[in-house]
Amino acid sequence: MRQLIAGNWKMNGLAAEAAALAEAVRDGSAGIAAELLVCPPATQLAAVGRILAGSPVGLGGQTCHQDAAGAHTGDVSAPMLADLGCRYVIVGHSERRASCGEIDEIVRQQAVAATAAGLIPIVCVGESDEQRSGGQEVETVGWQIEGSLPKDFAGVIAYEPVWAIGTGRTATENDVVQMHAFIREELVRQLGDPGHRVRILYGGSVNPNNAAAILSVPHVGGALVGGASLDAAAFLGIAKAAQATVEE
Ligand code: PEP
Repeated sequence: MRQLIAGNWKMNGLAAEAAALAEAVRDGSAGIAAELLVCPPATQLAAVGRILAGSPVGLGGQTCHQDAAGAHTGDVSAPMLADLGCRYVIVGHSERRASCGEIDEIVRQQAVAATAAGLIPIVCVGESDEQRSGGQEVETVGWQIEGSLPKDFAGVIAYEPVWAIGTGRTATENDVVQMHAFIREELVRQLGDPGHRVRILYGGSVNPNNAAAILSVPHVGGALVGGASLDAAAFLGIAKAAQATVEE
C-alpha cells in the first residue's frame, strides 16, 4: 500500500490562490510514489476538482454532515462531496471537535455517512497537551478510536496530537513509534484482521525537513499536512520523502 500524503488547506484559499496552488501540486506530482490528496475549503472544491481531473492528485472534503440531506444550514453532506468528485473526507479534526462540538459519536456517524456515499473517511484522533502531560495520551486515543470508528471501518486514521497542530512542535520519533504501534494494536483489537490494513497517518507540523524521519516509522501510512500544504513546494517535498510501499 502506498503512503498517503494529504493536504488540509483548512479555511484558506480564494479562487485565484486555490487554483494556483492546485495547479502547482498537479504539475509537480509526476513521479511521486505516494498517493497525493488535497482537501480545499468547500467553496473551492469544484474548481480545484476541474484542475486536478485526470491527474494523480485526489480531491477530499474537510468534513461532512452525518445526514445525507436536510435542514442543516451551512453544512455539506457526504453525497455532495462525492458529487464533486471527492474520494476522501476528513472527519473529527481536532479543530472541529473543539469548535463545533463534534464528539466521538458524531464523528462515527460522519464516518458512516462518508462510507455510505462512497467516500473514504479520514478519522482524526489525538490527545491535548494537558492529556499528554497527565500521561493520558494512550487512554485518550484508545477511547477516541473506540467511539469514533464504525464497526466495519475501512477508512484511514490520522493521529494528530493537538499540541503539535500548527505549533511547529512535532511529536518525537519515540512518541510516533509508541502511538502508531498502539493505534495499530487497538485497530486490530476493535476491527479484527481488517485493522492491519487501515493506514495510520501522522499529523502535526510535518514539513519537508522532518518528513523522512516521521514517514519511516513503522505503522506510519502517510501524513496529514496543514500549514505546509499551502506551499506546493513544501507539500511536494514532504511527498517525496514518503514511501512507495508500507507494511500492511
Ligand atoms: C492539521 O491541521 O491537520 C495539521 C496537521 O496542521 P499542521 O500541519 O499545520 O500542524
